[in-house]
Amino acid sequence: MPISPYIDVILPLPLAGSFTYALPMAMGEQVSVGSRVIVPFGRKKFYTGIVQGFSPAAPKEYEVKEALCVLDSHPVVRHPQLKLWEWMSDYYLCSIGDVYKAAVPTGLKIESETRFEANPDFDAEDASTLPERELLIWQLLQTKGKLEAKEIEKETGFRSVPTLMQRLVERGAAIVSETIVDKYRPKREKYARIAFARADEEALRAAFAAVKGAKKQEMLLMTLLQLSGFTRAGVPVAEVTQQELLDKAQATTTILKALVDKGLVERYTKEVSRFAASQAAVSPLPALSDAQSEALRQIHSSFKDKQTVLLHGVTSSGKTEIYAHLIDYVLSQGMQALYLVPEIALTTQLTARLRAIFGDRLLIYHSKFTDNERVEIWRRLLRGNEPCVVVGARSAIFLPFAKLGLCIVDEEHDQSYKQFDPAPRYNARDCAIMLAHMHGGKTLLGSATPAVETYYKALSGKYGLVSLLERYKGATQPEIEIVDMAKAAKKKAIDASFADTTIAAVRQAVRDGQQAIVFHNRRGFAPMARCGKCQYVPKCQYCDVSLTYHKRANSLVCHYCGASYPLPETCPVCGEAAIDVVGYGTERIEDEVDRIFPEAKSLRMDLDTTRNKNSYENLIDQFSQRKADILVGTQMVTKGLDFGGVSVVAVVNADNIINFPDFRSAERAFCILEQVSGRAGRRDIPGHVLIQTRTPEHPVIQHVQAHDYLAFYTAEIEERRVFSYPPFTRLIYIRLKHRDERELDEIASLYADRLRQLFGNRVQGPAKPPVARVQSLFIRQIMLKVELNASMPKVKQILRDLYAHLRSTTPTLRSLILQYDVDPY
Ligand code: ADP
Ligand code: ZN
Repeated sequence: MPISPYIDVILPLPLAGSFTYALPMAMGEQVSVGSRVIVPFGRKKFYTGIVQGFSPAAPKEYEVKEALCVLDSHPVVRHPQLKLWEWMSDYYLCSIGDVYKAAVPTGLKIESETRFEANPDFDAEDASTLPERELLIWQLLQTKGKLEAKEIEKETGFRSVPTLMQRLVERGAAIVSETIVDKYRPKREKYARIAFARADEEALRAAFAAVKGAKKQEMLLMTLLQLSGFTRAGVPVAEVTQQELLDKAQATTTILKALVDKGLVERYTKEVSRFAASQAAVSPLPALSDAQSEALRQIHSSFKDKQTVLLHGVTSSGKTEIYAHLIDYVLSQGMQALYLVPEIALTTQLTARLRAIFGDRLLIYHSKFTDNERVEIWRRLLRGNEPCVVVGARSAIFLPFAKLGLCIVDEEHDQSYKQFDPAPRYNARDCAIMLAHMHGGKTLLGSATPAVETYYKALSGKYGLVSLLERYKGATQPEIEIVDMAKAAKKKAIDASFADTTIAAVRQAVRDGQQAIVFHNRRGFAPMARCGKCQYVPKCQYCDVSLTYHKRANSLVCHYCGASYPLPETCPVCGEAAIDVVGYGTERIEDEVDRIFPEAKSLRMDLDTTRNKNSYENLIDQFSQRKADILVGTQMVTKGLDFGGVSVVAVVNADNIINFPDFRSAERAFCILEQVSGRAGRRDIPGHVLIQTRTPEHPVIQHVQAHDYLAFYTAEIEERRVFSYPPFTRLIYIRLKHRDERELDEIASLYADRLRQLFGNRVQGPAKPPVARVQSLFIRQIMLKVELNASMPKVKQILRDLYAHLRSTTPTLRSLILQYDVDPY
């Protein structure tokens, strides 16, 4: 029974609110909240929208159009998910369409511009089973290659192209075209089986008679009987792939075809999951140490009256093992769990550990997956409600869980949980807490260096707090040595970017058969090029930043927009051949390491060496199996990785990390330094960390040396209180972007003035951010500090109204881009 003739539909567009469509009578029965519908929007465009609800009446402001069709009778977006979307759109001041866009894979939200191609795994034989119109489209794709949905519409004249495409994708005949190199598609495998009943001995005899004299056919038949265990009573018949069969029997498809034609063998095709690692669980849960068991007990008891609990466990205390126990508990209650990690590298390391415990109840999800792979995980979660645990990076919060009992956010302090661009600019940690809440589940935050806001909430009783302050098996905290680079320079005890002390420690580790990690937070070869004569520094044409020299690519690259330029041979300003590169990036550090330690093998892990899908896995495997001695890397190597052989960690330049113009710089520096130190001495060998700096007396460095989180926190929270920064207020950055700097300055000050009329001294700015132009757009930033108990929907409404008002009165505002960043990180 249709509840109402109108539906409210969320469209993947950055427009406020949802849109009302009329529901044709015939479609009424099939629609529910969360279903996908195809609707027209704008001139000759269609989108896949999500039904947000039913509307009793047509809106008066615009003429209501009819929805074209309903794609699913079962919702693709479940109720708690929709609730999360609504919350995100309110809290992060974005449209619900922005959230939808980020949340759902392209393959589930086909629109006019979606490009398709034929799936090469799908052949003419498969195609013969397609209905007529689908077959025509498939043939079109075969001959024309990639086509947009609207082009297919034009070529065929069919009116229901989106629906047809959806079906073709579901049948594995077409795939959504992606630009990603390492593309994956629904995987289809061909199989062969005996065509008569197992019990039919008569038929078996007849079969052999039928191939008598044809040696190769007889051989093939025998092989199939054997491989499938067809004649072995009591064992189920096994599936045999065509490939395996032909390989074993050393036969060709022609011979197989002969058997098919004689009616003895059948061929069939099946879509196999590429995630069908289908391993059964092999390991029991790890037995916990006394300290770990006590922490687990406290977490359970804390969950009785807190929705969120912080586990403050020092590095290598065995947080992962505690998580495993909690996950196991949740699964045994018939519920699902989400395990968030900040880096894809960590999913790689965890997969092996957790696969052994949870078998194929473990799913992985992150941004290196192609759209096709994401669709497959969505479908799996939509199909069944069975208990499973998903390990993933931040986008995993969007998956369609049926009954989420627990969210774990590991390394909850980590910056990579924050999505910076595009909208929604959200923090996956905070969304995970909301998501668990929407499901009536719990959240466990884990960290050795909790975010200041998180620890504050734990101390004030909003979150539960459980501390685990000893390393597993009594491993000691690594010893931290502060290397004063100014002093070393004076004594000439420096080679390139390394002090002699650091070199000696790394050399000793390698000599003793142990491993070392060298951490540096800049990628590329050198962060800057410069003319030695006139000091001219080449900058990006589109952004206000100096260019990084990449030696392997032999070019200058902008790390903000990706533009690349040749390294000039002569200075374009003074004409001298004096252009040189200045400073150190990981690429150069790796070269230095190879020169200084010729006896050692090195690896590098940074954005540039991990672009391919499996590169993380390869690097981590090689280093864990001790095929290399020294791992050079950026932030990626600091987070949560567990290598048993590492005894030495060297931080090339701590000053880079400490001197960052931001209220969070001390917190960030403490986390990074403490975390990278935590990679050393994780088993029986003691760890040794060398931190190179020119400001050895800096309080952050002192706190890290003492491994004293509480001392760091106590100093930091006082600063935040005095200057009214989070957690004492909520920050919102309003970023204004424009092509014309003069116009931007005018608009920005006008905007800030109006804001001040509304919000008073809660407004600061406009100010130039550290990088004040990116991709040809100038940027200004206004900071808004609102009280913690302020209603975000209200703030959003005020900001929306102000923008609408200014737009209608100030024509230059039309080319302004306005972005809100709530809880900037
Ligand atoms: P954290 O996440 O707290 O840094 P991990 O969970 O990675 O620590 O544990 C550190 C190391 O100690 C890992 O190699 C882990 O396998 C081992 N470990 C910790 N707890 C146990 C346990 N209960 N049983 C066996 N090994 C453990
Ligand atoms: Zn640029």
